[in-house]
Amino acid sequence: LAFATVPRTRRLLKDEDMTKIEFETSEEVDVTPTFDTMGLREDLLRGIYAYGFEKPSAIQQRAIKQIIKGRDVIAQSQSGTGKTATFCVSVLQCLDIQVRETQALILAPTRELAGQIQKVLLALGDYMNVQCHSCIGGTNVGEDIRKLDYGQHVVAGTPGRVFDMIRRRSLRTRAIKMLVLDEADEMLNKGFKEQIYDVYRYLPPATQVCLISATLPHEILEMTNKFMTDPIRILVCCSFWGLCTLPRKYFYGKNRVDWLTEKMREANFTVSSMHGDMPQKERESIMKEFRSGASRVLISTDVWARGLDVPQVSLIINYDLPNNRELYIHRIGRSGRYGRKGVAINFVKNDDIRILRDIEQYYSTQIDEMPMNVADLI
Ligand code: ADP
Repeated sequence: LAFATVPRTRRLLKDEDMTKIEFETSEEVDVTPTFDTMGLREDLLRGIYAYGFEKPSAIQQRAIKQIIKGRDVIAQSQSGTGKTATFCVSVLQCLDIQVRETQALILAPTRELAGQIQKVLLALGDYMNVQCHSCIGGTNVGEDIRKLDYGQHVVAGTPGRVFDMIRRRSLRTRAIKMLVLDEADEMLNKGFKEQIYDVYRYLPPATQVCLISATLPHEILEMTNKFMTDPIRILVCCSFWGLCTLPRKYFYGKNRVDWLTEKMREANFTVSSMHGDMPQKERESIMKEFRSGASRVLISTDVWARGLDVPQVSLIINYDLPNNRELYIHRIGRSGRYGRKGVAINFVKNDDIRILRDIEQYYSTQIDEMPMNVADLI
């Protein structure tokens, strides 16, 4: 099997589209493809469209409905994929505006983030008459108390100040029905964990909990059962998020491998890398590591294209198309060894299409646009 990210009949993908290729790897969840069909209140819907959103993003299509239903949700997708808007829309939908009490509490690790969340809430809730306060350290306590006394439907804040306000009984928690932890892995990490639990203890027992993050390490997920009830985990993962915008002509070989390796590590992937300029000893130890399964992703130049046999390799990604037709076959032949199934994905820019079509013609094959369920095929 081989896929390219070029649609055959539709318009060609532009660079900005290439960053949106998404694989869903979570359990099955309903997908709601439009805001109109999410069952949102009219005044909220109006705010969403007025804010300039037309269509929900992948995480929004999946997570909003679950949160609105009242489930505890763990929503995970890369940054910039619309997570903030996901929980803001959900929170707004769940408010009873007639009741001027705090009904949702959103905690974030930085003051800036809390402030930003408040802005998004106010903008999306522009037609709802929503009161939303950002309760953050470093600001005037008296002012906070005054705002809270006035009555706030939603509070977005940092844990320290929020807890302070709860202790002073300025932030009344009895009407709170939803707790959202943004950047949840950081919030549940050493520095913040105690403070989060302090706040949590003051919330009504039935409070719905939502965790939002781009990354959620295992040890964090494991502790979620302490304060979540039968959570549904929605994971929208774009494995090569943001990596497609590199100006290719500037890098080849070693530099390119090093660059891509660095980017993937920054994005929390464990990867090995290899190129021809490495000392042999190092190459051997990397091969060993990869063969043993200790590292599951190998980024390599064409030194790896021919002949190497690692049976468990099931996926080849041509981040760049190879320079000639033969190399294409060699490269993709690293997967699907000995009757096993293999998948190749090609990242293709406009200038590459000619090369791709040439490969198709030469091997009398068809390289299709990558289907959304590609994860099932690997
Ligand atoms: P995240 O929290 O995942 O980092 P944000 O919610 O901040 O992502 O969204 C990133 C950017 O995309 C923001 O500028 C936001 O306004 C915009 N955005 C979010 N959802 C949509 C949408 N459905 N349509 C258009 N733009 C959106």
